[in-house]
Amino acid sequence: MPTYEYRCAKCGKRFSKTMSVKELESVKVKCPKCSSARVVREISGFFANTSRKS
Ligand SMILES: [Zn+2]
Repeated sequence: MPTYEYRCAKCGKRFSKTMSVKELESVKVKCPKCSSARVVREISGFFANTSRKS
């Protein structure tokens, strides 16, 4: 299952959640620190190695 990185828009707390794509659709993610639902998903873990120079 992929891990999603989140950042709380309220308090700035960063946290990550591991869940399936299905859960991602249905689960409301809350900040573990302040319980705010205003969390921003950050894209991480994707490292494109399409072009490589030697
Ligand atoms: Zn928060």
